[in-house]
Amino acid sequence: MQLIVKLLYPIADLIVLVFVWADRLIQSWRVSKTGYANSRVRNMVNTMGYMSHAYHGTLPNIRKWLKDRPALFPTVLQVQTINRCNAACEFCPYPYTIHLQEKRIMDDALYSKIVDECVQEKDLHDFVPMSKNEPLLDLKMEQRVAEFKAKAQPHQMVELVTNGSALTPTRAQRLMEAGVDLITVSLNASNEATYNRVMVGLSWKQVMGNLESLSKMDLSMVNVYLRFVVDQTNRRELRIFHKRWKHFNLFQFNVNNRAGTVRNYEKMVMKYNDLLSRLRRIGGSRLYPVCPYVFSLMHILENGDVPMCSNDWADREVLGNLHSQSIREIYNSPRMNEIRELMAQGRFEEIEACRECSFYHDWMKSPLAPNKDDWRTNLQPAPRGQVEPV
Ligand code: SF4
Repeated sequence: MQLIVKLLYPIADLIVLVFVWADRLIQSWRVSKTGYANSRVRNMVNTMGYMSHAYHGTLPNIRKWLKDRPALFPTVLQVQTINRCNAACEFCPYPYTIHLQEKRIMDDALYSKIVDECVQEKDLHDFVPMSKNEPLLDLKMEQRVAEFKAKAQPHQMVELVTNGSALTPTRAQRLMEAGVDLITVSLNASNEATYNRVMVGLSWKQVMGNLESLSKMDLSMVNVYLRFVVDQTNRRELRIFHKRWKHFNLFQFNVNNRAGTVRNYEKMVMKYNDLLSRLRRIGGSRLYPVCPYVFSLMHILENGDVPMCSNDWADREVLGNLHSQSIREIYNSPRMNEIRELMAQGRFEEIEACRECSFYHDWMKSPLAPNKDDWRTNLQPAPRGQVEPV
């Protein structure tokens, strides 16, 4: 088995090389129907364009660090300006994690401090004022986007990921005027019945109305994506989803367990046979030898805390706080580098969050290791029906 895997590595490397080269070649010909006049996002088309953008944006830090261990600055930064969402989606830990905290909004001085450091750093490409929340519940969002864009370097872009319920024509217009480059609407269904089951607490009619209005606006400067997280309950609707939404770019990916914090993940996870799972890990570990979440991404909570990984909704490790430290300081702290070193040595399972994480088990774990099939966690049930109206 070990020999077969060793033989497959060069083949996987060749496939990755051809894939990356071909992607580079067609990149300039790939022009989006939304955001086509905006050089930061015009080449992002559908799932391939989104993944290509994420891959090329996160890989340089990984390569640099594995070669020389230099100080890093995140290439993608997520900022939680409010710790609230108005939904309880089936694949999201919000109801039994963040929702249990008291409501808080990031203070303006802290937000400005973050912006001021980011705009000095050329490695920062994607600024995302959203993390583990519904960003449009922050009524200052347009102002925050405008503040970043007024100071940003030309290559630095702003992305918002929203459930679309508060993306009314007025707010969409204001966000575009503020300079948002990329809006991703998390939809995850193609009919009302599925939507009500998956996106608990939201109104299909309200979101459809907002999307219809958005499709009639001038979207030359903003790229709009609709997102579909595939799981066992909605996977049959993917084809209709692709047929129905011609106005926007579409992006799909499989549900993940958010470092072991998603309840009932075992019922939702897409199933693959043993061989395919191992082949995925061979390909995944050649694309990403270590996890980009700690080499290229960072997220900051509304109180200034910086947990190790935005995928871990339990915030198991907090590495610093922006009230008293800088982004650069925290991102190059001894513990952050220790985590990177563990990953470089393949010792993911010595990091508490990674040990539970489906991203690690599905894509980066050694293909010789057994598949993980028990995803159960000890987290408590969600307090249903306690979500806030928009
Ligand atoms: S493997 Fe670790 S760092 Fe990467 S996403 Fe999972 S928990 Fe985060």
